[in-house]
Amino acid sequence: MKILVLNSGSSSLKYKLFDMTDRSEKASGLVERIGMSGVNGRLVHKVPGQDPYYVEQPMPDHKAALRLVLDSLMDGDRGVLSSLDEIAAVGHRILHGKDAFKQSSIIDNEALEKLKSFMEFGPLHMPANIMGIESCMQLMEGIPQVGVFDTAFHQTMPKKAFLYAIPYELYEEHGIRRYGFHGTSHRYVSMRAAEMLGKPLADLKMITMHLGNGSSAAAIKGGKVVDTSMGFTPLEGFVMGTRCGDIDPAVVPCLQQKLGLTSQEIDTFMNRKCGLLGISGVSSDMRDIQRAIEEGNQRAKDAYDVFIYRLIKYVGAYFAAMGGLDVLVFTAGIGENDHLVRQHVCEGLEALGVKIDIVKNAGLRAKEAVLSTPESKVQILLVPTNEELMIATDAYELVKDIS
Ligand code: ADP
Repeated sequence: MKILVLNSGSSSLKYKLFDMTDRSEKASGLVERIGMSGVNGRLVHKVPGQDPYYVEQPMPDHKAALRLVLDSLMDGDRGVLSSLDEIAAVGHRILHGKDAFKQSSIIDNEALEKLKSFMEFGPLHMPANIMGIESCMQLMEGIPQVGVFDTAFHQTMPKKAFLYAIPYELYEEHGIRRYGFHGTSHRYVSMRAAEMLGKPLADLKMITMHLGNGSSAAAIKGGKVVDTSMGFTPLEGFVMGTRCGDIDPAVVPCLQQKLGLTSQEIDTFMNRKCGLLGISGVSSDMRDIQRAIEEGNQRAKDAYDVFIYRLIKYVGAYFAAMGGLDVLVFTAGIGENDHLVRQHVCEGLEALGVKIDIVKNAGLRAKEAVLSTPESKVQILLVPTNEELMIATDAYELVKDIS
């Protein structure tokens, strides 16, 4: 049984085709420059064991991009499907399910209308996510569409963790509350971590740290999220590549006034010009920050120190919130690849009984591993994330009995 996973961005469409009999990847690729005037769109299509192939052609919209993807999957020479009927379902990565979608769900016309009403909760992502689903409904008639939401896993958060201290009516009438994001990644790595340790999730208090361009943590007790660091939008929480994370809300109008920015512009400023980039003035990329620190750049060191300090503070807070901690998981670009970040976070948590094996940690990148020493009270795990496989698994679970 095959499942196609789609991630539709504003000008891109990423895809992966899985065979769920052995969870193997049959093909993957990316269409870029969708809907850009004056330039052709570009597809790169990859099949394991073969050279990638490229197509450049006009790409007016997501429907045209999907048509090219489906043609590539069924291409006589390089294709991996003989007919679309082999696809049992399409799993879509969707940014926001608000409190209406607490888990992955089949998206029919009614669900699609509901999603359209959430547009303002993700003005950058939701229109593209919706276009991806609509294109599939048009070009793949009869094949079930499944929505997998970045917010869904965090829907178990109790009210005390998701309410902001603003008038209650704003939560009731406008849905202004904390939602959390990266849920599919937090769910995947927490499940893998429990499997790696051979223990039921129900018995574990876990903190998962998704550290990429966007970063977040989730406190997961017995398999359920009790708190997470992102909020109403992905801007809250950690210092990120270009996002400021937690900040005194009074700084916002102050900056608006000093820099002469509209509300739209200050939002963009907080999302694009702050974080590691803003403090260091060097880059949003942790690799550049590390290089600059080695060269003696003090602002890069300041950015790194704030980044690490905030990770440590969150772990401390979640330790208290859960009444203990059994497992600390690192994942995503920085979490999987940067051994210094893992080491420095863990060294800052020694008071909680966290002890990392520095030698083993230094040698590891993007590979599943236990990094704690035998005497550590907390198991430290490196678990590469795999959101696409999680999406495919959810879609498969929802359709396997109806196909
Ligand atoms: P996204 O949030 O865009 O999915 P990723 O999870 O791919 O991001 O993470 C991207 C970040 O990972 C980069 O900005 C970079 O800082 C970091 N990164 C990738 N490889 C390394 C590495 N070898 N060492 C340190 N940081 C790395």
